[in-house]
Parts: sequence; C-alpha cells; structure tokens
Amino acid sequence: MKDFARACEAIAAATKKLQKTAIVAEYLKSRAVEEAAVSAVFLSGKPFPAWEETTLQVGGTLLWRVVAELAGKSDAELTAAYRRHGDLGAVAGDVLEQRAGQGLKILEVSKAFHDIAAARGSAAKAVLVRELLAQATPLEAKYIIKIMTGDLRIGLKESLVEEAIGKAYAATLGEVQRANMLLGDIGETLRLAAEGKLAEAKMRMFHPLGFMLASPIDSAEEGLSYFAEAAVEDKYDGIRAQAHVSDGEVKFFSRTRDEITESFPELPGALAGLPQDAILDGEIVAWEYPPDTGDTQQIVDERPGLVSEQKAMDPGHARPFSVLQQRLGRKKVSETMLRGNPVAYVAFDVLYANGELLIDLPLRERARILDELVAERIHQGGTESRRKSQGDFGFDAGAGAAPAAAIRAPVFRVKSAEDLDELFVAAQARGNEGLMIKDLDSPYLPGKRGKSWLKMKRELATLDVVVTAVEYGHGRRIGVLSDYTFAVWDTNKDRLVNIGKAYSGLTDAEITEMTQWFLEHTIEDQGFRRVVEPRIVLEVAFNNMMRSDRHESGYALRFSRIVRLRRDKLPEEADTIETAQKIFEKQSQ
Ligand code: AMP
Repeated sequence: MKDFARACEAIAAATKKLQKTAIVAEYLKSRAVEEAAVSAVFLSGKPFPAWEETTLQVGGTLLWRVVAELAGKSDAELTAAYRRHGDLGAVAGDVLEQRAGQGLKILEVSKAFHDIAAARGSAAKAVLVRELLAQATPLEAKYIIKIMTGDLRIGLKESLVEEAIGKAYAATLGEVQRANMLLGDIGETLRLAAEGKLAEAKMRMFHPLGFMLASPIDSAEEGLSYFAEAAVEDKYDGIRAQAHVSDGEVKFFSRTRDEITESFPELPGALAGLPQDAILDGEIVAWEYPPDTGDTQQIVDERPGLVSEQKAMDPGHARPFSVLQQRLGRKKVSETMLRGNPVAYVAFDVLYANGELLIDLPLRERARILDELVAERIHQGGTESRRKSQGDFGFDAGAGAAPAAAIRAPVFRVKSAEDLDELFVAAQARGNEGLMIKDLDSPYLPGKRGKSWLKMKRELATLDVVVTAVEYGHGRRIGVLSDYTFAVWDTNKDRLVNIGKAYSGLTDAEITEMTQWFLEHTIEDQGFRRVVEPRIVLEVAFNNMMRSDRHESGYALRFSRIVRLRRDKLPEEADTIETAQKIFEKQSQ
C-alpha cells in the first residue's frame, strides 16, 4: 500500500494527463497481476469493482471519530485540520503523522474492505476501520480514507486508468474500454489485459452495463441539427433502470449500477415471461393505470370491437416523480404503497437479445428488435385484454394484486422543429418531462454522454414578461405574427429590457387574435419584424437561464415557451430583472 500511496502522490503532483497515465502504467507494471488488479479498482476511487453490489456503509462521521481517536485529537483540532485540507483523507495523513503503523499490503486493505462491508452495525464497522487504520502508515491512511469516501482527488478518472492499462500491457484503449464496459470491473479488465485476453471479455447477465446518456439542447432547431433521422420519445420522469431477464429471473439495476429490484417487487413479473434472455434499458415511472373494470364482456356487447379496442390502446399514463419518490430506497414495500403508488417499466432500448449483444447495432435495428420482443410477448400474452394493447408487453396483475406493466415507449418521427415543439407540448400534457431525441443511426454507447441522444426538458421556472416585438412565423405559421420577443422591467421599473424569444405554446386561435392586435398596435414596422406597444403579458417557461449579451437584460433563456397569455395582468405587473436574477442564482446553486 506504501507504493500505491506514493504513486498517488506523484499522480496528484503531475499536471498533464499524459504524465498521470505514465505514472499509473509504471506503477501497475511493477506489481504482480493480483495486486495491480486491486490497485486499478482503488485508483478509480472505489473500494470495490463497479458490478459488485458490496458497499462499505461507513459514513463520514464514523471515519471522523476513528481518525480523531487514533490521532488523539479533539474535535476542534480536527476541524481546524479539515479547514486546511478540505478532505478527511488528507486530514488523516496530517494528524496521524506521529503515530506510524507498520504498513499494509494492498491485498490486506482489500480484504479489510470486504470485512467492513460484511460487518453489521456501525459499532462493528468502527472496530474494523480502527484496526485497519491503526496498522497503516500516515500516507497509507490518507489514501485508504480517500478510497473509503469514494474520491481520491488526484485528478484521475477511470478513463485514465483504462488508458494506463492499455499502456502497461500493450493493448489498445478501445480494447480496454470495451472489456471494462462489458465486465464493469476495471480489475478484471486488467487481469485479462495482462494475459493478452481482452477479447475474451463477455457480457454477463446480471452485471449491469453502463448507461448511455443524453446532452441537453437549447432549442427545437438544435434538436434536429446533429443527425439525419431522429427517433423521438417522451422523456419520462422516473428513474433509469436496466432490466436483466434470464430464465424467468428478472433484476433491475439503477444508473449507479445498484440492484433496485427489491424496491419494485411487482415489476419482475411483468418481464418474467419474455420469450428469451434480454437486457432492456428503460425508466421506472409512477403509473396511473386505467380503471380495470374486469367486465370487458359487457363493453364488447354494447359496442362490438370499438370500445374494447379503445380500452386496450390505453395503457395509462405517468404520474409525477414525487409519487415515485415515495417508493425509492425501500426494502419492504407495503401493500398500501403497492396499490397507492403503482409503477410501470417503460422500455426504450434493448442491449442484449437472441443471445447477442446488440449495442453496436444502430438504434433503428435495436428499436425493431425491441418491437419484436414486445410482439412476441403479446403473442404469448393469452387472453388478458390489456396484453393486446400495442406497446404493452407484460401485465402482471393476479386477482387483487397491484398492477405492474412493462410498456414499450412510443416512438415518434418528426420532420421539422415545429413538429418537435408540438410533440414537446404534448409530452408535457401527458405529464412527462419533455422529449428525448435520438439518432436512429447511432450505436448504444454505454457510459457516454454524446450528441446521439438529446434531451429537451421541463422548464426550470416561469416569468411574466411583456411582448416588445413580434415576427412572422415559419412553416404552418407563415403569415401570422407568432414569434415574440419579450422583456422584463429593469431595477427602477422605468424601462423594459429584452430577455428572450419564444414562438410556441399559444393556440392557433390565440395567434390569429394576437396577430390582429399586434398589426393594430405596431410602433415601428421593420418589415419582417414589428416593434409593438408593450401591453401584452405572457407567462413564459424555460429550461435554463444563462448570462448572455444577446439581450439588453444580460441574460438569455434557454428553450423558452409560452405557457399562456396573462390577460389578467397589466404590463406594470410583469416580473423585474431581480426576479430573473434570483432564478439565475437559484439554478446555479
Ligand atoms: P437527465 O437525468 O436530465 O440527464 O436526463 C436523462 C435521463 O432521462 C435518462 O438517464 C433517463 O433516466 C431519463 N429518460 C426518460 N425517458 C427517456 C427515454 N425515452 N430515453 C432515454 N432516457 C430517458
């Protein structure tokens, strides 16, 4: 562990990434493979590999107490040291200076971490932590604590450790990354690299893969600017979950790769009948199920086909995140909770099926395979009416049980930014957060945030603003004044300062009415643009606010939309720049 700690000090001191990876590579090469493998995990700032479900469950307070005790320092002294360092590991290195232990081997530290994780209760854990730190040299203690708190703070990310492994064992970065992604274990990846067997890394069921992530966009236009063909889905406001289904066994993993099946005991049943092993990507969402009348027969009798068809097409809809929140982190879920706060699994991607890893296929192929899985499940589904509904591929509701469905997220196609705007408004009306826009030609990139998946999110806040200028619209809105520039009052309320533009949210009838009004109340006709009398108040919503000199106010709103006309408000009642500043400050906290 001494050499590990020394290497960490050198890595922290190095300023360039290249120097850092060179030090890591040298260090790894100098160790036996087993030690190097454990070191690779520690160097990623974690006590255990990503896929292992082990956690230390040792809080900062416990560590603080043990360090104070070992160092023989008062709380005040430790607090003073903490102010100097801002990191408990560094504090330990400092205050334990006088109290050198004989030193530890890296594999001993790894074993101690497993023992601590297995110990029940904080008293038992404290004894083991104390034993471990008592044997460590001050420098070792510094890094043991940093690993325990999950952050080495030496400017080393797992991606740099991957690079170093490539360097140390003559493999390409791509080979290392792929193996690490499939195994979710940088230590195991190192072992394979050392043996020249990276190509043998295989995806393992019930070991979660990394999640593909999305980048935010500012406008509908931007949403369509990165790729040729987009698949658009609602952005559900729940929690991301990867479902592994094998031989009737189903487990769900969160974005942090923790298993969360326990909190959703009703969900496995909805996927258990999948005809083959599969890994799905999706969102667990609080769900409002349509009332299950159970008397389909009667309905069919009344209006053959039509009504039952309609009923089958309605799988229900999402409820707010706050409803789901009450279900999170529970080990035991009460009957009342299961019934009062039911959930659904909304699947939007498939990473493994037909015995094959599918991540390298373009989204259009994966989407097709997911559709087929859904269809097969429906085919198997038997007589239950809801199973027939399109996109609802599992429904597990025994008599009197809480409902649970797996639903295929509907996919939309768009031709223009206007289409996207309309879908956005519709998605919000369905109670969802916004939209996800995905490149149909893109592979699934685990753990990557790129521009193949884009997110258009729910607004941060709203402002009441005054329209100061208007422009003619595009597409469907040619010939009507539908693009509005709007302003808030400056500090003294004697001047309006522009803060943004928006062109969606009003109904066609409202736009027609407003066009007439603006034509009659134009102060200056600039051709495509008209400066108008500042008398119309709008409520606008936006995702984000940033400093910008595009508008006089010094701010710009990202992705603003009109929520409604505020006919009930006089222009004097619109918001001031202070309100905008407050929103800006709140958002940057
Ligand atoms: P954010 O958490 O704001 O970065 O947005 C990304 C998250 O949106 C993902 O991690 C998912 O949990 C969630 N999400 C909701 N609906 C979808 C969808 N249709 N496709 C992908 N991610 C989605």
